[in-house]
Amino acid sequence: MSNLQVPVRPKRQKIWVDYFVQFRWIIIVFVVLPISCIIYFSIYLSELRAEKKPYKLRQKEHEENIKKVVKRLKQRNPLKDGLVCTARKPYIVVGMRHVDYKRARHFEVDLSAFNNILEIDRERMVVKVEPLVTMGHLSRVTVPMNLALPVVSELNDLTIGGLINGYGIEGSSHIYGLFSDTLVSLEVVLADGRVVRATKDNEHSDLFYAIPWSQGTLGLLVSAEIKLIPIKEYMRLTYKPVRGNLREMAQAFADSFAPRDGDPKKIPDFVESLIFTPTEGVFMTGRYASKGEAERRGNVINRVGWWFKPWFYQHAEAALKRGEFVEYIPTREYYHRHTRPLFWEMKLILPFGDQWWFRWLMGWMMPPKISLLKITQGEAIRKYYHDMHVIQDMLLPMHKVADALEFLHHEMEVYPIWLCPHRLFKLPVKTMVYPEPGFEQNQKQGDTSYAQMFADVGVYYAPGPVLRGEVFDGAEAVGRLEEWLIRNHGFQPQYSVSELTEQNFWRMFDRSLYDQCRKKYKALGTFMDVYYKSKKGKKTEREVLEAEAAIAETAYAVAEKED
Ligand SMILES: Cc1cc2nc3c(=O)[nH]c(=O)nc-3n(C[C@H](O)[C@H](O)[C@H](O)COP(=O)(O)OP(=O)(O)OC[C@H]3O[C@@H](n4cnc5c(N)ncnc54)[C@H](O)[C@@H]3O)c2cc1C
Repeated sequence: MSNLQVPVRPKRQKIWVDYFVQFRWIIIVFVVLPISCIIYFSIYLSELRAEKKPYKLRQKEHEENIKKVVKRLKQRNPLKDGLVCTARKPYIVVGMRHVDYKRARHFEVDLSAFNNILEIDRERMVVKVEPLVTMGHLSRVTVPMNLALPVVSELNDLTIGGLINGYGIEGSSHIYGLFSDTLVSLEVVLADGRVVRATKDNEHSDLFYAIPWSQGTLGLLVSAEIKLIPIKEYMRLTYKPVRGNLREMAQAFADSFAPRDGDPKKIPDFVESLIFTPTEGVFMTGRYASKGEAERRGNVINRVGWWFKPWFYQHAEAALKRGEFVEYIPTREYYHRHTRPLFWEMKLILPFGDQWWFRWLMGWMMPPKISLLKITQGEAIRKYYHDMHVIQDMLLPMHKVADALEFLHHEMEVYPIWLCPHRLFKLPVKTMVYPEPGFEQNQKQGDTSYAQMFADVGVYYAPGPVLRGEVFDGAEAVGRLEEWLIRNHGFQPQYSVSELTEQNFWRMFDRSLYDQCRKKYKALGTFMDVYYKSKKGKKTEREVLEAEAAIAETAYAVAEKED
């Protein structure tokens, strides 16, 4: 049996914010949900309008919009204006990071017009999209054509630009890798106003590989070509309950998608595991299935996308009582299965949101817009969530998952835990995230000669001590989690709150290619540094000036060296 001991913590005195959080549902139900619903409907209408435009017109508008971006960049006076970033409001982004650089001096470039699907090329099996196209928009257009991105990140609101410049993952990542591994080309406006197209094998291949995880600090992405795969109408999903200790569950997770005999026929199209308690989990595997197969007599079809349906994670949890079962879910509804309850975050925010009466009466207004949740929380609640709540993904080699689960139990006791495998490919260059050196020689379960199998261990909820009313220091716990990741060749996506110092940030990520591209593509002195951009804490004017000076110094040094 694994060690399930947790530290003994004293009880915590409640403060006024605790009560505010407890009754936050009043604002959510009467303000946030109705407004969200109106916003979603107007977005839907504008997407429909955009889809009516002929592709030629979309491409023409795209080119005109690029000219506007170039013009705006050229308007910047480096001596007076701040460093460049997109004009997207901090509360609109899905991520939980502080986005504090937007409170400091900066120079905004508006990319909001870049929200069109520019081309769907069935012959090349490639889609060309602008960066503000969302996952929900794209899947609504491609799924009826029996086409999809290889990696469709679950939440409808996630954007192409965010998933490329940050990170993106899905239950198919054990085959296709991270979102960035499915890219064909990137169209980027550089600091000096040049527009380049970067691919795996052209003269800008270094930029192509450096952009993922760079947070938009190498250039402004204005379009991307992404691979498409053929899909079928349904996902045949098997729910398998597993009981045992955390180490046994880690092994069951690996066995669910990486057959020990390596038989490719046994590899499912989709994998997802949810650990509900330290001794219980449900392991799901999916395969695409045709309409004909799904509708065959005796098969169960579950339209999980209907507003009144149980929240997906709770439906999955039912397997612990029901035992193993199989059902067919319409593919698009499966892709976005966690959108309505925002995985399980809504259980905290709206504790009765999962009750049958609420789902039937108001479920159609779900989910709330994350932007509205952020706007209505205020500074005190924002701080409260950062201290009392965790949203973290740990990306680590598969063979470390058992250790990670035990570490998380000891430090945070956050359940459910989301487990999603992903390949980390051995690329021709060393990128910010990279496989363990030498993994190909001593291949472990799921590894191949060209990719190491990693897993995303996601924790999104209030930790056990917080739920029990005990003292819990979120910043300290996250700090220890980050140290643990560095020691174990793990990575933390930058959308989450981080306590990393600059030195530790660059112990976690490899900076060689990033630095090289910052110099080569003249990003120094124009775009912020990725650590500065991800860093926690309000940026003061002094800090901005220091960051700008440091960047300018390096830029001059490089320029002198080149001369
Ligand atoms: C509640 C929650 C649920 C999540 N669910 C999932 C999930 O299901 N699957 C998943 O893969 N991830 C998920 N994530 C993480 C998510 O992948 C990241 O937040 C990701 O970066 C995308 O978010 P976004 O579209 O809001 O991008 P943003 O936060 O807007 O962008 C990310 C970074 O890219 C930069 N950027 C964006 N567009 C451009 C551009 N055109 N040019 C230059 N730079 C640009 C931004 O400046 C920013 O630094 C989730 C996060 C949270 C908090």
